[in-house]
Amino acid sequence: MGKQVGLDLVYRLAQERRARLAAERLLEQKQRELLSANEKLADHARYLSDEIVVRREQVRSFQSETETLKGQNSRVLEDLERANHAILKAERRLWDSLETIQDGFAVFDAGRRLVTANRSYLALFDGDEGVTIGAHYHDIMSVAANEGLVDLGEDEPDAWVNDMVARLSLNPIPPVVLKLWNDKFVRLIERRGDGGDTVTLAHNITDTIRHGAEMEEAREIAETANRAKSAFLANMSHEIRTSMNGVVGMADLLGETDLDDEQVSYVETIKSSGEALLVIINDVLDFSKIEADKLILHPEPFDLERTIHEVIMLLRPSVQDRSVDLIADFDIFLPTAYVGDPGRIRQVLTNLTGNATKFTELGHVLIRVVGFEAETPGTQRLHITVEDTGIGIPEDKIDHIFGQFNQVEEDRDRKFEGTGLGLAITRKLVELMEGEVWVESELGQGSCFGFWLELPVAEEAGTPAPTLPANLRRVLIVDDLAINREILEKQLAMLGLEVIIRRSGADAIENALADVDLIISDHQMPGMSGIEFAKALRDRGSRAPFVLLTSNPTEARACDDPSLFVAILQRPVLRRDLFAMLQGLVQDSEPAQGASALVPTSTDAPRELRKMRVLAAEDNKTNQLVLRKMLKTLNIELEFAGNGVEAVAAYTARRPDFICMDISMPEMDGKEAARRIRAIEIDNNLDPVPICALTAHAMSGDAKEILAAGLDYYLTKPLKKAALVDHILTHMPEGVQPVAALDGPAA
Ligand code: ADP
Repeated sequence: MGKQVGLDLVYRLAQERRARLAAERLLEQKQRELLSANEKLADHARYLSDEIVVRREQVRSFQSETETLKGQNSRVLEDLERANHAILKAERRLWDSLETIQDGFAVFDAGRRLVTANRSYLALFDGDEGVTIGAHYHDIMSVAANEGLVDLGEDEPDAWVNDMVARLSLNPIPPVVLKLWNDKFVRLIERRGDGGDTVTLAHNITDTIRHGAEMEEAREIAETANRAKSAFLANMSHEIRTSMNGVVGMADLLGETDLDDEQVSYVETIKSSGEALLVIINDVLDFSKIEADKLILHPEPFDLERTIHEVIMLLRPSVQDRSVDLIADFDIFLPTAYVGDPGRIRQVLTNLTGNATKFTELGHVLIRVVGFEAETPGTQRLHITVEDTGIGIPEDKIDHIFGQFNQVEEDRDRKFEGTGLGLAITRKLVELMEGEVWVESELGQGSCFGFWLELPVAEEAGTPAPTLPANLRRVLIVDDLAINREILEKQLAMLGLEVIIRRSGADAIENALADVDLIISDHQMPGMSGIEFAKALRDRGSRAPFVLLTSNPTEARACDDPSLFVAILQRPVLRRDLFAMLQGLVQDSEPAQGASALVPTSTDAPRELRKMRVLAAEDNKTNQLVLRKMLKTLNIELEFAGNGVEAVAAYTARRPDFICMDISMPEMDGKEAARRIRAIEIDNNLDPVPICALTAHAMSGDAKEILAAGLDYYLTKPLKKAALVDHILTHMPEGVQPVAALDGPAA
């Protein structure tokens, strides 16, 4: 039994040891688990503490943001308060202003009810109760109409109110001027605002209207005075011209009587002083008319080349005693007929060419016309230059010469007369014609004045080139003046002719006679004249047709053998005459040995020709005498009519080739007579006879009326012999005896 107990004990001890070991292992494991759990716990604790740090920082940041926002918020509040304050102040100022101004101000909402209005606006309605905030625009206007607050003129009140309201639908709303009960005037200016509002300003224009009425009255007084001044000027010019006509005309006649040298010089002085006085009167008149915008252009078809020709003819006598050639170079294929104011264009050309001749002692004055296609179809841009070889203009003066009363004040040109208005008028005229003037000049070398104009072409299809005889190929030009040779050479070359040029007859005889079909020579040349040259050629057996170009056709025709020439053409040669001369050369059936095959048509035996008939209608006996004397050197039949009735009768009886028509005549004036003659021509299908008005009127309106009555030209008195003779020569019909004056047209 004891052994059994011992065994049990051992067993139990072993069991306990095993249990203890197991417990120890469990303990160990649990300790490990505990350790691991501790570590996790520590990690977690670290994480949490990190998290806490972050959160704390966030909280701090939120706190500071909140602080900032709080600050901002209070600033915004302050700003808002300030803004509110400013708005209130602005509104108060605005209203103060609106209340201060005398103009009425009101705003209507989209339903056209009055939202707000200043006192001035309300005062317009004289405090009527109907005009109050909330009132309708229509009702307010009704108050104005029915209470007699507004002058309705011819309108019925309802119609007026409806019109006033209807305006508001227009955009923009048209302003309207109202006359009020208290004699004040307001202009209602209305504008649509945001959201359909209508803003009304009733602008007080009483002072303006009163001022305007005063101005209108002052203007009427001034205009009446100005009209009186114009009429006075017109009358003065008429009176001065009429008397001057007598003075200059009689001086002219006196000059043709037997006088000794001293008397001749007195007569010349009377004439030149009279003429100078007229130039001055014309300049002053023109300038004052331009200044007063009273100068009206009268565009009509005219021939520019002929105008230039006439200007040269008119000025040629002024350079007679100097070695100055007046030359024209008109672009050969440029149309010559344009629509413009011929009188004014002639005036510009005369001014520029007149100056050029005045300031040139030696050399030439050249008028050159070149044309360019203008942008507007059917018009030409014309460049017209007047070039001289005269004294020139100093550089520092060149900008001033177009000003009025400006002359280059130097001793050297004190001797030249002039008003100093010519270029000022020229510039104004060209500008009135929408062109431009310019000048280039070199002292001592010469000047070139130019202007351009754009004018409608008045020709159907430009100028056709002439059809030349087939065997006209080589032309010899003889002229001592290079510029003349150049111009003619250019023109003939453009027509397809071969041109040989020589400086003198002697040179031509020596060097270039073989095979020329035509010779064109200058008349007055140093050494051998054109006439001597023609004779020398004929003596050498030449049969080539010979054309003489001359500034003095009368002298040329008076040479002992005019049959030397197929034509004597006056310089500057009109293109039409040049073409006609070339076309007039016909082919000879039996050409002579070594000479041209061409013979002139004009070598036919002369027929018995009548004289050109000129009718002069002039009631004044002195003027008749002046006319008769002026025309006495012309080979014409001159008849006088004492008034318009006689003129019409003389026209019907004898069909004159040219009529000079005085304008103011008893019984029937010149304008009426011209109208009747034109009517007779139309009824009988007759060609119109050239009628030239002779008038003492200088104002532009007269010219218009004269031309409208069917007269072709007008010459103002005192008559210039050269101009009158030139007109007559220009209209010499075919089939009459030569008219040319014995002492030359320009004498
Ligand atoms: P005036 O009637 O005195 O000639 P203008 O207005 O026609 O007046 O000319 C003004 C001035 O311009 C002239 O006085 C002259 O000094 C100068 N002048 C004009 N044209 C020419 C020219 N072709 N050559 C030289 N000087 C000229």
